[in-house]
Amino acid sequence: MITKPFGPTGVGVAVIGQGTWDIPESGDRLTEAKRAIRRGVELGMTHLDTAEMYGAGRVEELLGDAIDGIPRERIFVTSKVLPSNARYDDTLKACERSLKRLRLDYLDLYLLHWPSNHPLDGTMRALETLVEQGKTRFIGVSNFDVDEMVEAQSYLRSVPLTCNQVLYHLHERGVEHALIPEARKRNVAIVAYTPFGRGQFPRAESRAGGALAHIATKHGATPRQVILAFLTREANVFSIPKASRLAHVEENAGAGDLVLDSADCEAIDAAFPRGSGGPLATL
Ligand code: NAP
Repeated sequence: MITKPFGPTGVGVAVIGQGTWDIPESGDRLTEAKRAIRRGVELGMTHLDTAEMYGAGRVEELLGDAIDGIPRERIFVTSKVLPSNARYDDTLKACERSLKRLRLDYLDLYLLHWPSNHPLDGTMRALETLVEQGKTRFIGVSNFDVDEMVEAQSYLRSVPLTCNQVLYHLHERGVEHALIPEARKRNVAIVAYTPFGRGQFPRAESRAGGALAHIATKHGATPRQVILAFLTREANVFSIPKASRLAHVEENAGAGDLVLDSADCEAIDAAFPRGSGGPLATL
């Protein structure tokens, strides 16, 4: 698994991590999902992404079960505060609740989930306070467009903005125009969520599906591994596919060592045009 420096932190983070939105919350599927997360960690997918929103807290509890017993320093755990909880005091309390559900003493990364109606300076101050209190090592935002990211950064005094987590998949490449370059300039890591595009995965018999299959065959990889390698080709970009099936986790981890060449990237550009810029797309 390739690791890259995560923004300004100096910490090497796995290029491919694991999302947890919508993991099954009961039965055999839950048992497999927890095994899948642990297997993913064994395979190097140690960046684990969750949020207080997922299952209204239940997913944080399930992730806490899944990682129980794994040495704390082996994993990099991210959670997110809901915008409705983003007042200064409420953010501090929301982080405490997330830590309790996860059964952790500290998070590695704590994000504002999307822009809030509460004043952003208060939220950013709270995130800084949480770093000072040792409740999280790093802080960031999610679903922030360029101007919003710059504004968030402007409120920080003692701690850098580490990450902006955004929607990025082959049919939604708008972030390549301004956000990824600006983040690189500012040494902010971009974490690509929904890398498989929620129902927009190209059919194998389509022209775009054929292009992916061709590149995959050339590298002895799979189309999904090609997608993950493409999305994380820039130095400051990471991804967090979610998989609750063991076989899916193993396939995704296989993307962690795949490096595409310029011909592969040109073929993907032709099959999945970057399109024009515009406002940040979100789910
Ligand atoms: P995703 O990772 O693009 O896709 C998840 C779907 O793909 C699941 O149905 C999964 O199936 C399937 N899948 C995964 N690996 C596969 C493989 N190798 N072969 C076939 N199917 C595979 O979508 P996502 O869950 O929306 O995004 C990923 C993570 O990003 C989330 O879980 C969450 O942590 C984060 N996220 C953040 C935000 C935000 O606002 N910050 C928004 C959305 C998502 P199985 O589960 O059955 O294995």
